[in-house]
Amino acid sequence: MTLRAKILLAQTPLAGALILIAVLSGITSAALGRNVASILQDNYRSVLAAERMKESLERIDSAAMFIVAGERGRGMAQAEQNFPRFEAELTVQQNNITERGEPEATIVLRQSWNAYRAAFDRFVGGGNHAALEASYFETMNPLFVATKNAADRILDLNQDAMVRKRDQARRSAKRFNAVMLATALLASLIGLGASTVLTRRILSPLSVLGQTARRLGEGDMEVRAKVSRQDEIGTLARDFNLMADRLAQYRHSSLGELLQAQQQAQAAIDSLPDPILIFDLEGSLLSANRAAERVLHVTVEESTGAPMVRAEPQIRAVVEKVRVKALADEAGYAPGGFDEAVRVSPAGSDGNDVFLLPRAARVTTEQGGLVGVTVILQDVTRVLRFDELKNNLVATVAHEFRTPLTSLRMAVHLCAEESVGPLNDKQLDLMQAARQDTERLQQIVDDLLDLSRIQAGRMELHRRRVSVESLIREAIAPFASAARDKNLGLKSDIPPGLGEVDVDTERMQLVLANLIGNAIRYTPAGGAIVVRGRRADTTVFVEVQDDGPGIPKQYQTAVFDKFFRMPGSGSGGAGLGLYIAKEITLAHGGRLSLTSEPGQGSLFSVELPASAAA
Ligand code: ADP
Repeated sequence: MTLRAKILLAQTPLAGALILIAVLSGITSAALGRNVASILQDNYRSVLAAERMKESLERIDSAAMFIVAGERGRGMAQAEQNFPRFEAELTVQQNNITERGEPEATIVLRQSWNAYRAAFDRFVGGGNHAALEASYFETMNPLFVATKNAADRILDLNQDAMVRKRDQARRSAKRFNAVMLATALLASLIGLGASTVLTRRILSPLSVLGQTARRLGEGDMEVRAKVSRQDEIGTLARDFNLMADRLAQYRHSSLGELLQAQQQAQAAIDSLPDPILIFDLEGSLLSANRAAERVLHVTVEESTGAPMVRAEPQIRAVVEKVRVKALADEAGYAPGGFDEAVRVSPAGSDGNDVFLLPRAARVTTEQGGLVGVTVILQDVTRVLRFDELKNNLVATVAHEFRTPLTSLRMAVHLCAEESVGPLNDKQLDLMQAARQDTERLQQIVDDLLDLSRIQAGRMELHRRRVSVESLIREAIAPFASAARDKNLGLKSDIPPGLGEVDVDTERMQLVLANLIGNAIRYTPAGGAIVVRGRRADTTVFVEVQDDGPGIPKQYQTAVFDKFFRMPGSGSGGAGLGLYIAKEITLAHGGRLSLTSEPGQGSLFSVELPASAAA
């Protein structure tokens, strides 16, 4: 059965109740109509007839009076006129006998009327006035009264019947009303109840369907609507189940693809040799590759399935530090140098430690939203080993060069000074050039020795308290002639109140000599160099400023690295000067910084803590 038919069926009890009420009211009004009709037909006609008979009788009586009074003509006319009327009405009455006692009363009326009629004929035959009068009073009048009474009796009978019937009609109308009201109420209640029950039964599968849809929405892919009906709701339920099937299929397939993609991604990071850890925004570890498992002891927590780092606290701290830094900085985190590498002893490495250099990148969505951080621990063990080898080599070479170089310098010096015999001009030129080169060689060897000492962590400082002013003056003095030769202005700017610093003067002189030497070397002829002292609170700055070519932004950090020389720097040092200067300054608890714009000169600034006033 269709839903429409069912809904229509559900309305039938109510409709039935309405029809019942309509039938009942029809019956009621028909009964009432019949009652009224019977009053009209049975009684009203008799009442009318009785009234008319009485009226005719009155007229006949007054006609008799006229005759007594001597107006025979008039009296006769009136009487003749009313006899048939009476007769006609009496016939009507005789044919309309309906009430109990009415037949007898009608017979009495007929008899009285007959007697009166006969008496009237006799009365009219009477001669004189006296005889007429006597006849009237003795015969006519009593018969008139009797006939009238008989008519009255019929009148009364019918009027009583009318009153009775009216009361009866009222009572039955009342009764009908009560019955109707009760029936209407009862039928409506039953109809409503039945309709509600039916409607509920029709619609109950809809709530089943609704619940199923809700559970499906919550992710229960196995749930189906159990509705076995043939109507539209049944069709809807079947369509719904079909949709749920397709959804489940789709879910399975997309889950499969997702799993595959995840496995591919995992395989990709597993193939990388360096440990990689992927964190979400809250810092929970989402994923880690094999290298991380091996080196950092990342395990998957049995209970939660979440990966966990069981590495030593030192590494966890480093990972946490770079993760937080990458979260705060859009560029992620890149290490400043190899000295940031951390030493790790991986399980089963037989004491072969590895050095890991931490680096972190932000993981963002296509729209640029930050979703996590990837921490990469680059294995720099081999690089560091090479570095160490190179350092050892450098240290050995420098050390081995020192003694022969000293005697070489001495020999060249003595020859150039002609202490061992005179030289001709050509020989003198050659010896002086050789002397300059041995000096440079000595400088390089010194730098290399300093470097190896620094790298071995063996830089001992012999601190002394000196005034900043004397430090600057002493640094400038040896360069005066070189500056003059190159036509450079070399000036100092020493304001009063610079105070003192506690430094290893020899090494600090080396720092300043490196900076001033560079300024002279790289500033073209005609330029100006200023060595300036400055003080801010408890910090002293010694600045070397030149108006030379300047240093492009991309090299401003690299110039402090060892062996770094800017492209096109020409012959000169070994790229160690600034590195050594930086290391010495750091060892003093200070800082060496550079401010430069290409084409606008460079400003190297040595920042040192001022010594407390004595
Ligand atoms: P080097 O022995 O080559 O001078 P440094 O470490 O002292 O090594 O300097 C590194 C590089 O920095 C130099 O090769 C040079 O290109 C650049 N540099 C240093 N000082 C200056 C300066 N005052 N002006 C321009 N470039 C400079």
